[in-house]
Amino acid sequence: MTELMQTVSAALERRGFQVIHAKDRAEAARKVLALIPEGASIGVGGSVTVRETGVADVLLQRGHAVHWHWFDVEPKADIFPGAARSDVYLCSANAVTRDGQLVNIDGTGNRVAAMIHGPRAVIAIVGANKLVDGGYPQALARIKRDACPPNARRLNMSTPCALTDKCDAANCEHGFCNVISIQEHPTGKRPYTVVLVEEALGY
Ligand code: SF4
Repeated sequence: MTELMQTVSAALERRGFQVIHAKDRAEAARKVLALIPEGASIGVGGSVTVRETGVADVLLQRGHAVHWHWFDVEPKADIFPGAARSDVYLCSANAVTRDGQLVNIDGTGNRVAAMIHGPRAVIAIVGANKLVDGGYPQALARIKRDACPPNARRLNMSTPCALTDKCDAANCEHGFCNVISIQEHPTGKRPYTVVLVEEALGY
């Protein structure tokens, strides 16, 4: 494990997050699945990381109610309310600072809202590529540089970052940088687990 990951891990624990370590996505998936009680309802935020672990697919196969707008298994109108009331919310984070802040940018806001309030427990799976050796400015720079351009292209958006790999917020009329959140501590006294994975996951 890198020095940065060790430092981030200790900082997250000081802030009240439960931290689990995994060498790769397969180990992360096993450990996440072991945390989820039988019959628990699941909410999932838009997350390439979660998709790459395959956890949501396994939970669906096991018969859990999985509320995810990337699945086509329930009426669209039910998905966000179901996720917001779920027993366990699965997500990642766009960046984690050296001193353990979770930093996210969201377009619709459903993901950051559920990370902050609603579901009874949160599990955030975070690849090594999401850790920044700095604070909020470095986290924001990482998100704008490494997350927003591929996310915009994934969504077939014509934002400046999608076209040039650079943020140009002044000329971005229909982007998705609508909410920026900095989570300092778990909220609502609910279990909040961060799974730190020693490989790159998502973006
Ligand atoms: S503000 Fe617009 S251009 Fe900048 S990162 Fe966000 S979506 Fe991309």
